[in-house]
Amino acid sequence: MACERCGAPSVIDRPYDGTHPCARHLEASVRERFRREVHLQFPRFAGGRIAVALSGGKDSAVALALTHRYFARRPGAEIVAITVDEGIAGYRPPTIAKAAELCRSLGVRHEIVRASERIGTTTDAAALRLADRPPCGPCGVWRRQLLNGAARELGARVLVLGFNLDDLAQTVLMNLAKADVDRLVRMAPHRQRQDGLIPRIAPLAEVPEREVFAFATLAGLPFDHGECPHASAAQRNVFREVVWRLEEARPGTRHALLRTRERIVELLEAAGVGGAPMVCLRCGEASTGPVCRACQLREAAAAGVMADGGVGPS
Ligand code: SF4
Repeated sequence: MACERCGAPSVIDRPYDGTHPCARHLEASVRERFRREVHLQFPRFAGGRIAVALSGGKDSAVALALTHRYFARRPGAEIVAITVDEGIAGYRPPTIAKAAELCRSLGVRHEIVRASERIGTTTDAAALRLADRPPCGPCGVWRRQLLNGAARELGARVLVLGFNLDDLAQTVLMNLAKADVDRLVRMAPHRQRQDGLIPRIAPLAEVPEREVFAFATLAGLPFDHGECPHASAAQRNVFREVVWRLEEARPGTRHALLRTRERIVELLEAAGVGGAPMVCLRCGEASTGPVCRACQLREAAAAGVMADGGVGPS
């Protein structure tokens, strides 16, 4: 196939819009969607620190490289990459090495935040202590809290996440399937500032995972290809499969899921639904109840028992 814009060989097909761009036009289109989303999600930048969550994988590598390019010439902008080390043996160390390599090549400051030091436990420990459920629950909750805390300590105006279109469509479907409207509203990208939370934006929201991968490869960005040893147990896998099948059968479904979430959030905001977050009595972080989920999971992992009766090995 040839690129419909210039006739050069196509590197990818995009059934959702009927195009098959060449490398040059794919890169330009990813950059343009990124630029448009930054403009929409973070419109009034007047200088300051921009934190970027950097895992060492392809998505966050592309998010950092494009954030660096976008803000490089803006006066007063400083980019800091934050990597969370959740404590996953054999998986996290090589991704941290790739993250550090990318930061060095871009000249970006790199901060590493360790769950073992800040939470007092690790994802691997949670997997052992709460063996009846996947460790992705605590891992994700702790990571979000650590990223928010680190971004706040750095005085960041915003936290850039590398979520791509597939990630976000899966999250929307997961929350809809669980009737979890609160999480649907709270998920990134944030439409409104929330007390205690650094606004999170997802400028790759309109870019499918395949295109992010192609962009990272074409741009020669260093990123790690490894898979977390706990990934096979993740609940998300079912939704990844469902979203993939829906997209195959009806191209454009992922975009439609994002629009569904936006419409629900608009309606809830118009109705005045959704209050300010509380403050956790244990750690002082933003919370939806008296004790935040991160503290609940930390205590459960220490005891080997979940509040709902699920147990880990003694
Ligand atoms: Fe954490 Fe699960 Fe992701 Fe592994 S797959 S890094 S355990 S959220």
